[in-house]
Amino acid sequence: MRSYAKDKRLMLISTGGTIACVPTEQGLAPGLSAKEMLKTINADLSEIDCIDLFSMDSSNIQPEEWQIIANEILKCINSNSYAGIVVTHGTDTMAYTASMLSFLLRCTNIPIVLTGAQLPIINEDSDGRVNLRDSIIAAKALTPGVYICFGSDVILGCRAVKTRTVSYNAFESINYPKIAEIKHGEIEYISEYSINSKGEISALSAINPNVALIKLIPGLSADFIKGVLSANIEGIVVEGFGLGGVHNIRRDHNEALEYLMKNGVCVVLTSQCLYETSALDVYAVSRRLLNAGAISAHDMTTEAAVTKLMWALGAAEGLQKYDKIKRVEEIFASNYCGEITL
Ligand code: ASP
Repeated sequence: MRSYAKDKRLMLISTGGTIACVPTEQGLAPGLSAKEMLKTINADLSEIDCIDLFSMDSSNIQPEEWQIIANEILKCINSNSYAGIVVTHGTDTMAYTASMLSFLLRCTNIPIVLTGAQLPIINEDSDGRVNLRDSIIAAKALTPGVYICFGSDVILGCRAVKTRTVSYNAFESINYPKIAEIKHGEIEYISEYSINSKGEISALSAINPNVALIKLIPGLSADFIKGVLSANIEGIVVEGFGLGGVHNIRRDHNEALEYLMKNGVCVVLTSQCLYETSALDVYAVSRRLLNAGAISAHDMTTEAAVTKLMWALGAAEGLQKYDKIKRVEEIFASNYCGEITL
């Protein structure tokens, strides 16, 4: 367990979500400040600083907001005043934000813990108070990295997926053991995690938002896939069947994806199955894609694959077609924050 720097404080950054919701005439909307949320758990306000960054439903959190959240966290890291950071966030897109922060802040020297709730923290039966309390404990104890703490589980940020819409245990750790559980106010470790991106983050890298996700269905038109070119898309994640299978008769997805790659679009193949891996070299239906330059996402979550692609394209900015695809391929062949088993 990390020895908690007692002279340092914690930072709570609020961005909205159900946890901060209050009833309004239009329905639930985020309205509570970070301090108001801390008051519901009688937290020691003298050890926690607060920033009210947004009051947003996370359905509206996009790459622009990721950049703002990451910048705010970076300022806290650089101030050297904080032992850890808690970010409250809506659950609906929390796994995307956690994944993107994992890439942008991969060299963090303190833990960053995202949390939220299925019910507003002011509701009597809300899970928000336990989640916030647990996250504060986690932010004091964990090793540096980006995590989600929810329903008593601590999950690596780039391995989290929201798998339940209403239950309190809304998130699962996919293809990676949970890091810890919080039980009766104590952290119990389940697996070791130590950040493998050494170095310092002085500035944040760019995010290229021109990425799309396509889930294949039997009968999906190959022209639909080719159509992403006209929408200025520079990278797509394709959720294929099983290990990453695609149609190669009648509606030829191989041909459509090759067409995209020839036009400079980076193609990442992943699986529609939540667990285990994609592999393009096994079946004849998709092996051709490997030779054409498609990247297999292996055991990454879709959220991690999408955000890694945006981040990799940001890093490849300015490179032309094949050099760009090569650079993105190199980035996908590395594990930056525990997102992939290679
Ligand atoms: N719609 C909410 C949000 O993601 C749901 C939640 O926070 O649980 O902002």
